Amino acid sequence: MKIARRDMLKTLAAAGLAGAARPLLAGERPRFSLSVKRLTLKHTWTIARNSSDYKDNVFVRIERDGVVGWGEAAPNVRYGESAEKTMGVLEQARPLFESSDWFEYVDLRRRWETFTKDQTCAGAALDMAVLDWVGRKLNVPLYQLLGLDGSQTPVTTFSIGIDTPDVVRQKVREAAEFPVLKIKVGRDNDAEILAAVRDVTNCPLRVDANEGWRDRQTALDRIRWLQDLGVELIEQPMPAGMLEETAWLRDRVDIPIIADEAVKRAADIPELAQAYDGINIKLMKSGGIQEALRMIHVARALGLKIMLGCMIASSVSITAAAHLSPLIDYADLDGNLLIADDPFAGVTVGHGRLVLPAGPGLGVTERRV
Ligand code: MG
Repeated sequence: MKIARRDMLKTLAAAGLAGAARPLLAGERPRFSLSVKRLTLKHTWTIARNSSDYKDNVFVRIERDGVVGWGEAAPNVRYGESAEKTMGVLEQARPLFESSDWFEYVDLRRRWETFTKDQTCAGAALDMAVLDWVGRKLNVPLYQLLGLDGSQTPVTTFSIGIDTPDVVRQKVREAAEFPVLKIKVGRDNDAEILAAVRDVTNCPLRVDANEGWRDRQTALDRIRWLQDLGVELIEQPMPAGMLEETAWLRDRVDIPIIADEAVKRAADIPELAQAYDGINIKLMKSGGIQEALRMIHVARALGLKIMLGCMIASSVSITAAAHLSPLIDYADLDGNLLIADDPFAGVTVGHGRLVLPAGPGLGVTERRV
């Protein structure tokens, strides 16, 4: 039987029928595999709460009918996630993927969310993988599957992590092709960092304090100072739990305040509308593309601005997010550009704008190294 099957595959391949058109052979089991890949950062990455030189992300590869789908989880310590815990959660999804119809991804998601709640990045990886597979199987890019115009993508910011003035100046020079920069602040050297940035460029800036300012007067003084420097918006100035203080701030500043750490899912959004002007959606927080879409609709209904952000990650998850970018106001999808050894290729940046790949599904390809 095995020899006959191999011969049949050879015949199909010779006839150019392997891949998307190959029928599921009797007894062929869907495949579900997991791996951890270490992604090395080009520069040490420092934000208000921590510092890192690499990220261990978890990759999901699913295969059925000769069609492969890829997903990625970027565990984040801020949300109690780790590669080890994520692997444990993803392992629980194996029987689900081995026994269900992947076109029914809405129901699949409902089922995996019973065990991915504490590691939402694991849910994101599953969601990406199944939507990548569905798109490839139907031979359409994900943005088309979602009914979007793939040419209507926004510019993306490039993020400058916290560093010494010399390194900040060097990073800003390296980012010359990006028309807008996102500057990380929230430690005791905010003024030094902004001065170093302005030494090199007059481009528009967005600033992320990552919950770094813990009293409202400090936050107010810093935001007013940033306004005077021409900063466009401020992201998560105070800790996520300080909703009243953030509402107080909003009444006193002119630039939009965007929630990041304060928002993960659609259900979090309504109460944030009293304190923030917009939300930063990330697939790793929402648990995937399906929930990110719900968040976009809820935020729009409440009149909020939408940023689409990311963790440090490969082109798999950055490309997945980029497929949603025609729907949003601000893109911050540069996680793949901050790493030195991206194992995948997908979305690119041209004159600062996101350029979606043309291939089906996510449109990502594995790099051969
Ligand atoms: Mg942020």
